[in-house]
Amino acid sequence: MKLVTYRASVDDEARLGVLHGDLIVDAEALGAAYGEDIPDTMLGLIDSGKPGVAALGALMDAMGDTPPIHTSVPMSNARLCAPIPRPRKNIWGVGLNYTEHVAESARALDTSDALPQKPVLFSKPPTCVIADGEPIQHNSKMTQQLDWEVELAVVMGSGGKNIARDDAMAHVFGYSVMIDVSARDNRRAGQWIFSKGQDSFGPFGPCIVTADEIEDPHNLDLWLTKNGEEKQRSNTGFMLFDIPSLIADISTGMTVEPGDIIATGTPAGVGAGSDPQEWMWPGDTIVACVEGIGTLTHPIIDATPK
Ligand code: MG
Repeated sequence: MKLVTYRASVDDEARLGVLHGDLIVDAEALGAAYGEDIPDTMLGLIDSGKPGVAALGALMDAMGDTPPIHTSVPMSNARLCAPIPRPRKNIWGVGLNYTEHVAESARALDTSDALPQKPVLFSKPPTCVIADGEPIQHNSKMTQQLDWEVELAVVMGSGGKNIARDDAMAHVFGYSVMIDVSARDNRRAGQWIFSKGQDSFGPFGPCIVTADEIEDPHNLDLWLTKNGEEKQRSNTGFMLFDIPSLIADISTGMTVEPGDIIATGTPAGVGAGSDPQEWMWPGDTIVACVEGIGTLTHPIIDATPK
């Protein structure tokens, strides 16, 4: 299933839906049509575990081509929110997780050219998340080096501590797209959270594809364009630390919880690594895509305080 969080009108609460052609089928309403309780939010569905996801999947199968009356809205009449509009806790970012990005970062930034021996972990706060289509804010008093990073996002289904590598994939709820927006000149003493954690620096969506529908998350093309020009193109197969390794490593030190998000790192082709260096400016448009999941499109706007 391709799961979304949507509003059918500006006054409505954000609700859980399932993409079905040009329609969004409302998960709770579909359940009600069949006399079943289905959660009305993404986090509610994640918390309901594998049985909850299976129950929703079974209703989508039972429904066939045509949703029951009053259970769907046309995509064109709805506004997509980020799939989890407000993550419960910080998003785990993974730095330097593609070989050629390690090399370009060492050339352009202050990072080592040696491949990391353990995942390079950092954090993006829940307040950085924006939905597909929402603007990325450029504050010229803060940054002259606003950069892009397309990434596969992993959304955790069940949590745990010290999750074994071999068990890790069973903990994954699904996959999405994140742009790890980075103000390169806002790193402080080598710390990345302020550079990567500012408001609007976490475009996320447009949907979450449930894990059962992604045959191999380590074989997905991902790419990014700026103003129509391709800047990044790679495949998730080139990650240095694969998804089970990341989950196993993170959970050695921090309890993983349902709904947690891991942004798995970006391939080469960021602005800092290009020659000459290139950045995002108001008026630019960034498009990021991961194969089989979807596309994020974001304008950059001037958000410099007066
Ligand atoms: Mg990144």
